[in-house]
Formats: sequence, structure tokens, C-alpha cells
Amino acid sequence: MAETQVLIVGAGPVGLTLALDLGQRRVRCVLIERNKTSIQLPKMERCNARTMEIYRRIGVAEKIRDAGLARSAPMDVFLAISMAEPALAHLACPSVAEAKAEIAAHNDGRPLEPYQLISQYTLEPLLRSFVEALPSVTVRFGCELASFTQDSDSVTAHVRNSEGAHEVIEASYLVGCDGGSSTVRKQLGIQLQGDGSIGKLRQALFHCPDLYERIPMGKGRHYHIAEGPGFPFIILQDSRRHWTLHATASSDAEMPEIFRRSLGMPVEFEMLSVNEWTQHLLCAERYAEGRVLIAGDAAHLVVPTGGLGMNTGVGDAIDLSWKLAAVLAGWGGPQLLSSYEEERRPVGLRNVKASRAAMSGRLSWRAAYHPHIGRDTPEGAAIRREMARRFAVEQRKVTEILGIEAGYRYLGSPIVWPEPGEGPDPDTSQYVPTTWPGSRLPHVWLDDPAALREPASPHHRVALHDRLGSGYTLLRLGRTRVNTATVERTLRATGAPLQVLDLAEESAREICGFDLLLVRPDLHIVWRGNQIPEDPAALAAVATGHERAI
Ligand SMILES: Cc1cc2nc3c(=O)[nH]c(=O)nc-3n(C[C@H](O)[C@H](O)[C@H](O)COP(=O)(O)OP(=O)(O)OC[C@H]3O[C@@H](n4cnc5c(N)ncnc54)[C@H](O)[C@@H]3O)c2cc1C
Repeated sequence: MAETQVLIVGAGPVGLTLALDLGQRRVRCVLIERNKTSIQLPKMERCNARTMEIYRRIGVAEKIRDAGLARSAPMDVFLAISMAEPALAHLACPSVAEAKAEIAAHNDGRPLEPYQLISQYTLEPLLRSFVEALPSVTVRFGCELASFTQDSDSVTAHVRNSEGAHEVIEASYLVGCDGGSSTVRKQLGIQLQGDGSIGKLRQALFHCPDLYERIPMGKGRHYHIAEGPGFPFIILQDSRRHWTLHATASSDAEMPEIFRRSLGMPVEFEMLSVNEWTQHLLCAERYAEGRVLIAGDAAHLVVPTGGLGMNTGVGDAIDLSWKLAAVLAGWGGPQLLSSYEEERRPVGLRNVKASRAAMSGRLSWRAAYHPHIGRDTPEGAAIRREMARRFAVEQRKVTEILGIEAGYRYLGSPIVWPEPGEGPDPDTSQYVPTTWPGSRLPHVWLDDPAALREPASPHHRVALHDRLGSGYTLLRLGRTRVNTATVERTLRATGAPLQVLDLAEESAREICGFDLLLVRPDLHIVWRGNQIPEDPAALAAVATGHERAI
């Protein structure tokens, strides 16, 4: 019988991210995956800004960018009658290089990293290679979870390998990152709530090496074809030689013809794969029971519109990882793991709602379709104008949702110090930097101390996020003279790792709005103030999950 601290079931992007962060925290894990290899089919292709911040913190963001779509490639979105025609509507979206230059040029609290296009079939093997390099993680492909039992001390999992041999793995905790049809969720008897099976689409992957350079309307990542009722949708993959087509088709064999029609020009291609997938808008009624937890698609399923599937799951992984590490290290209190569901399920529900809104925006511009759209008549021109007008408004609700991606806040969390009042609305598409307890610490550019010591250094600034270690951080801003020794002492007395960071920069004080902030290992804010709290011991107990915030 094998024994480990955390058994992770499923090596999709969420299980891999959890294994990576737990492994970096030196937690012993076994990651099992029933397939013999990483995913071969295309699924997600866009890591959002918050996911890229998380990957930066784990130290892999630039490696992901190196493997993904070139930094200089435009991320524009088009609507057209075919790829050979002029665009009916064109949403310009900055390339990664342009977006990075904008971030570098501003110090206003906007997120530190922009999005990155990387195909799931590129991302998964890359994450796997990072995980396999960690000494505390054992990765086993071709190993399927069959069933498990749990008691108050441990979880006993029964697994079988690809030859059919059975084995038992005993773990302190089990996390089901095993996707939409999660064995773990089903065995816990957890129901999904919401709308299941709301539609079916076919997706095909094409190798079409010449297309990218030949599109008259310009280079981009999404091409919506104004052809009802199926509305084919073509997505650029990271190599720029591969494309996916999403369409309603009654058989796989129809897909090459739909692709040919959507291209509207003679371009050679080969269909590499085709599969049907079902759309859902669902969230699990619970995220955990005892020592078994679920994350990612096992806990929530959204339509891809808005790209909130994997990205929400990466947020789950990073919320859960430090809590598991803290409990296993002995300093985490009983509220830490129960806060996982209390923090992440509301985000799951919110992102299901945001995906639904993005989907209805798409349906609204599609409703302007009429078969005469391509006609060279005043009627045809009016149809095209109206669809383009709606597209420009509604499609932005899909591509410009930075507030949804990075602005979530853990409202009512038992491990966040409550503050009277409402705080900014965490559910808007526009991102508003805030340090309201429960929110993610905004990004601030700081003077780089190394550059100050060495004026010839090319790097003059460093990101605040990069200065924070893997434990808690007490940020002391605006040259405060407040004596924080009792806060530091009481927090350290719990055994939790704490770094104290004095930052003189006015920009940090201005963006953060307070002199003192207590930041968690996942960069969410526990507490803020200008004086130490009345009861530092109570703050330490809440922050580390030994008492519930009231
Ligand atoms: C067409 C399409 C486009 C998408 N685009 C985006 C996008 O742009 N952005 C975005 O964020 N999301 C997108 N998504 C959603 C995204 O692909 C999923 O949210 C993501 O794959 C979920 O990751 P996961 O690790 O939770 O689950 P999965 O990727 O489903 O991985 C689960 C893993 O668990 C394994 N497993 C299952 N059962 C067992 C078992 N019993 N034992 C061992 N292993 C098991 C499976 O083999 C699988 O490898 C898209 C999805 C589709 C279909």
C-alpha cells in the first residue's frame, strides 16, 4: 500500500496546477491520471490575466508564454461572412507584447499579467514536466481511481493501472480534479445544480499551415462566421498552423465542408480530430466532504464563452493548495479547509452566471441573422450593419471581463477579517483595484532595491507581488511608524510563516489605501488598517483558521 499526504485525482490543468503549488510547498502528493498521455484534443486556449499572475507566482508564466502563441501576435476578434471577405465587425485586442507594454507604462493597480493564448494540448504536457521535476510529487499516468473510503484520519483510495492491476493508496486528503464526470463528486453523492446539457457542438482540429498569413481581414484569434443557424466559429491555436472549428453539425463528416465554406478561399487543410461536446452551466451543491474535496470542472461546468472554465479551476487550486499545506504542517486551524468551499463556491456560481451572460450576448447578435445577409442589396447591407452593431456591443462582454477574471472577493469568508460597509461591487466586468478584505492584492510597481544599489541595472522596478513570499505578509506602507510587534508575535505564535515588508513608495500606499495590510499566501487580503487591530490574537486566529470571523 502506498501512502501520501495528498492524493490528486486527474492531471488536467487544475490537478496539475494543484500538484505544482503543493509540490513547491514540499507537500508529498501522488497525482494519478487515468489516461496514458496528456490530452491530445483541443479544449481551452486562453489563460486569463489572473491565471497568468498565478503562474507567474509559481515561476512558470514566461515558460508558458514561450510555449504559447507568439507574444507579438494580435488577439483580435472578427465577424465576417467568410474568412476571405472583409470583416463585418472587428474588435481589436492587444497582443501580449502590447498589453505588457501598457502594464509597464501604468502604475494604477491594473493586473500584473495579461492573458496568454496556449492550447490545452500544449499547456498540459508543459505543466506535467514542471510537476515531474518536483521531488515531493509522484505522477502516475495510466492509473485510475476506482473508489475510496474515508474516516476521521485518512482516505483510502482503490486505483487500477492500465493493465488492470489494483492497488491501494492511503492519503491524508484526496482532491478530485477529475473533470465534469468526476468519479469523486459522484461517489460523495454531490449533485450539480443549474442547467445541464443546454446544447451540443462539434469541434474539429485542422492543420492548415497557410491560412494565418492569408486572411485578408487581418490576423486574430477568433473568427465568427455570420452563417445561420449554426454560426461556425474558428479559433486560432498556439502554433498558428492549427485551427479549431466549432459548429452544429449532424455528423463528423460534415465538418470539413463547413470549414471549407467558412474559409471562402482555396486553402489546403487536413482534419486531425473531431469530437462532440455538450454545454452545461452547472455548479456543485458542495465542494467537500470530510477529507475529500473537489476542484475545477469536477465542481463547476461553464460554456467556453468568456473562457471561465479552466481559469476558475486554477483559482480553486491556488485557494486550496496553501490551506492543505498549512493544515498538514500543523499550523492551519479547522476553518482553513472549510473556508475552501465558502470562498470558492460563490466564485463558481458567479462565474457560471457570467458565462451565461456572455452566452446570451452571443445569442443576441446572432439573432440579427437573416439568410439575405450576403446580398448586395440595401436589405443585405442593413442586416450586416445591425449584426455588426450588436456584435461590437455584445462580444465585448465576452472579451472584456477583467473584473470577473481578477476582481473576485471572498465575501463572508470565515478566515477574512470583516469590515463594515459594502466595498466595491466584485461582480462587474470592469476591474477596480481594491484592498477590501477578501480581495486579491492589487499589482503595484515598486522601486527595485537591487537597482537602487546598482544604478546601472536595467531593471528599475519590481512588482509588489514578486516581493511577497509563500507565507503571510504584513505590509507596512507609507513610512508608517505604528508598532506592529504584537500582530507579528501573535501570528508567528501560531506557527504560520510571516514576512514583514516595509515599503516607502507612495504609489503602494496610494493604491492600497491603508498603512497596514495582512496578506495571505494566495495574495488575498485578510485585514487592513492604519492602526493595529484591538485584538491581534483574534486576528491571528481568524487568519490561520483557528476561529471563525464573525
Ligand atoms: C471547446 C472548449 C473550449 C474551452 N475553452 C476554454 C478557455 O478558453 N478558457 C478556459 O478557462 N476554459 C476553457 N474550456 C474549459 C476547460 O477546458 C476546462 O474547464 C478544463 O479542462 C477543466 O480542467 P480540469 O483539470 O478541472 O478538468 P479536465 O481537463 O476535464 O481534467 C480532468 C482529468 O481527470 C482525469 N480523470 C477523470 N476521472 C478520473 C479517474 N477516475 N481517475 C484518474 N483520472 C481521472 C481525466 O482523464 C482528465 O485528464 C473549454 C472547454 C471546451 C470543451
